[in-house]
Amino acid sequence: MSRPGTPQNTRRDLRRSATGGAGLIDMDRAATTPLCDEARAAMEPFLARPGTSVATHGNPSGSHAVARRALRALDEAREQTAEVIGCSPGEVVFTSGGTEADNHALTGGMPPRQGVPVCSAVEHHAVLEPTLALGGEAVAVDRLGRIEPGALADVLQRRDRDTREGGGPAVGVVSVMAANNELGTLNDIEAVSAVVRELAPGAVLHTDAVQAAPWRELADLVAVADLLSVSAHKLGGPKGVGALVVGAGSELRPLLLGGAQERERRGGTHNLAGIAGFAAALAAVSEGRSHRRRTAAIHRDRLAAEVSDIDGVTETVGPAVAAASGLPADRSHLLPGHLHLLVEDVDGEELLFDLESRGVCASAASSCASGATGGSHVVAAIGLASSNAAPVRLSLSSDTTDAEVDATLGAITGAIEHLRSAGTLGSAVAR
Ligand code: PLP
Repeated sequence: MSRPGTPQNTRRDLRRSATGGAGLIDMDRAATTPLCDEARAAMEPFLARPGTSVATHGNPSGSHAVARRALRALDEAREQTAEVIGCSPGEVVFTSGGTEADNHALTGGMPPRQGVPVCSAVEHHAVLEPTLALGGEAVAVDRLGRIEPGALADVLQRRDRDTREGGGPAVGVVSVMAANNELGTLNDIEAVSAVVRELAPGAVLHTDAVQAAPWRELADLVAVADLLSVSAHKLGGPKGVGALVVGAGSELRPLLLGGAQERERRGGTHNLAGIAGFAAALAAVSEGRSHRRRTAAIHRDRLAAEVSDIDGVTETVGPAVAAASGLPADRSHLLPGHLHLLVEDVDGEELLFDLESRGVCASAASSCASGATGGSHVVAAIGLASSNAAPVRLSLSSDTTDAEVDATLGAITGAIEHLRSAGTLGSAVAR
């Protein structure tokens, strides 16, 4: 077992001890997850070679027997998805993933809905960019990355005043993520909903549950939000598929025009294999959720405790920051697999390269912003824009092992020692 502060094994040894020689340790599970067995099994009938099985290649929008068979499979996947999410099947709109679901929620379709969007300042770019493109605004978050209900209330009241005085459009949609992808911080969507219902009763409330879905009860979220985004590949399903849940009473025009699929809310031939895999992964992930949460949190907490013993390494939104914000001094405000660190006296990009050369894959910000080790809008929004420390996101899953945690600790210790002793942090490094 390698420990911080002890001499490091060779890189090859570290890889061997943690992975049985199989290669890399994926400490970036918030970026994506491997396909689970249940999803693979559900997808297989739709991936069969011609002539090797009963026809499963049908287009569910057709009317003959092959198409009807595909439609039955689509209906079953929809029912399974709705059951896990806690909504009715007709409220599920299958999409190409979280980005499409978010864009659809924010715009309301084509043409965009009346009114401007308002979102939190730490939203994923799939929410932030449509918000800004449509003339909306982002609301400040606190030091943990949570939207402040008071700040949201101020924005909604100001917008309402402006609208009544003829100075600006009303708020059409409010979007607040259930959990942040970089920090792992949870938002209280019920509290957000109360503010929106009171101060912007004409607006719809969207929550991006892409990161939260493997860990949080989605039924609690759909009970208070009108629209909710989920993505399959974050929870053991295939890439390129997800859903936007559209609560009864919320209108949604299609974003992609040219087909009447999904009750005229999303045109385009269904990705049936992907949808079947998504539904199966969602069902699998919802089973034993509390056990999986506990397992991931145990490993994350040990990694957090031991890595914080290294000089100049702090948890960005850990127990100390929680206590200073009036919360319990623990990590119950975070997703169970997330650990966000700030590492002093190293260059962020070099740290990630060094970690990878030791067999550990981590990221600096969201994977969509990879390459940008500094400059995270999330880190800036929590007031750390001028920090010289390198941000590192480690994200674990419930199947992360003790050996992987040990090897990660060893790799981080070794990488930091190596970079600091080599003095690679030059004044030219832009953060
Ligand atoms: N929203 C959040 C919070 C995410 O973390 C991601 C992916 O990183 C997305 C949306 C985009 O989802 P997808 O990769 O399915 O387009």
